[in-house]
Amino acid sequence: MLAKWLHKVLSKKSAKAAKKRELPFNQHHIHADELSFAAEKVIKRLHNAGYQAFVVGGAVRDLLLGMTPKDFDVATDATPEQVRKLFRRSRIIGRRFPIVHVMVGPETIEVTTFRGGEVSSQNELGRIMKDASYGTLEQDAMRRDFTANALYYDPEEEVILDFHHGYDDIVQRRLVMIGDPQARYQEDPVRMLRAARLSGKLGFSVDKKTAKPIAECANLLQREPPARLFDEVLKILFSGHAQACLRQLNSLQLNHVHPLLDALLPGAEGNDNIVALALHNTDERLRADKSVSMGFVLAAVLWPRIVSSWNREKAAGLRSNAAMNAAIAAERDHLDKGWGVPQRYSVVMREIWMLQPLFEIRRGSRPFRLLSQQRFRAAFDFMCLRAQLGEVDAEVVAWWQTFQHASEDERAQMIKTAPVQDGSGTKSRNRRRRRRSNSVRQDEA
Ligand code: ATP
Ligand code: MG
Repeated sequence: MLAKWLHKVLSKKSAKAAKKRELPFNQHHIHADELSFAAEKVIKRLHNAGYQAFVVGGAVRDLLLGMTPKDFDVATDATPEQVRKLFRRSRIIGRRFPIVHVMVGPETIEVTTFRGGEVSSQNELGRIMKDASYGTLEQDAMRRDFTANALYYDPEEEVILDFHHGYDDIVQRRLVMIGDPQARYQEDPVRMLRAARLSGKLGFSVDKKTAKPIAECANLLQREPPARLFDEVLKILFSGHAQACLRQLNSLQLNHVHPLLDALLPGAEGNDNIVALALHNTDERLRADKSVSMGFVLAAVLWPRIVSSWNREKAAGLRSNAAMNAAIAAERDHLDKGWGVPQRYSVVMREIWMLQPLFEIRRGSRPFRLLSQQRFRAAFDFMCLRAQLGEVDAEVVAWWQTFQHASEDERAQMIKTAPVQDGSGTKSRNRRRRRRSNSVRQDEA
């Protein structure tokens, strides 16, 4: 009740404060032709049908910063059903708040109807549970998270509408929450993760008042559905600025909100540098417009947990391969339950791990079998990362590098002259034998 009342009072207060500013082209310098073909088309058709329509959110912010927008979102006063009628290739999605995905060629434009000032339902902590009221442009601006995300660009007039000094905040490179930050985090705790991600990605400072309640509210994230948190974690990993985002998470004291983030945060237990290497590698690939595999990145992020368990099992006498299976089985519950990792990623990640011990065997037919595995390339790249950390000998990496590209005859020769077994396989067999005879001796005593 109190949270609801507070929200109403604070909303009214900030509603009064919201004063519209119109920024002309000679101030913002965004040309309509900087929009994607799809965004322009969607807005034009909505205008022709008599509706208001603007590009909003990250795209306007990124264009002002001279960055290429990741996607274009459109806000309109047309209801989802009205939007749906105007575009043949469109569908309504979203449970909490319905939005329309409009497909134009290969692009998807997210079209949202202006949100109203009232939220339909909140829980006892102020969390928005349902949110289906539509409203005016001004009300919509108030419901957005940061001032920099509440700019509305009209490509026909080439003006930007700014209700919350978002333009000035972008110029000053600072992230400022609209309204009362604490109440806004209570409404939707994921906004805290967005603060870390956007400030990391944009190189913005987080305004003091916006940052202050985060440490106290961080525990609210634990009540969010794992799949939604995982989605945000993915956005952090694939922002192209993963390391900067993680630094922001750390400085905003957003610790222990998701086990995956704990594994990522510098200084976390068992977190050696494979995580940093993988993130650096991912950031570079993304900036060079190359593809990155989610399964691969996850395999690296969670590797410190697996490797310590793998080493334990090997020390207990299991063969390298069996030890890896045991280590993966031990972590399985964490990954499949509470973490929200979709199966399509966890399958790849497990395969990459499972193939690691097989690089130790360079005799017989095993190397050929490993080479024919669908996930060989990813597993090999992963071994290269491990080698950079000294977990694997450079000689082993060089051998596999040559082996991949060698002729049949050369491969046969390489196998003949390769060491019998790397890693702990033979050693652990000997250890097991010794342990067996020890236990026999103890029994005898
Ligand atoms: P990105 O560069 O990652 O796309 P973005 O700001 O565009 O950043 P989106 O998730 O695409 O992020 O969201 C589009 C817009 O919707 C945001 O700019 C913001 O105005 C609004 N928005 C998104 N999530 C929230 C939220 N949790 N609370 C309030 N407003 C939000
Ligand atoms: Mg966006």
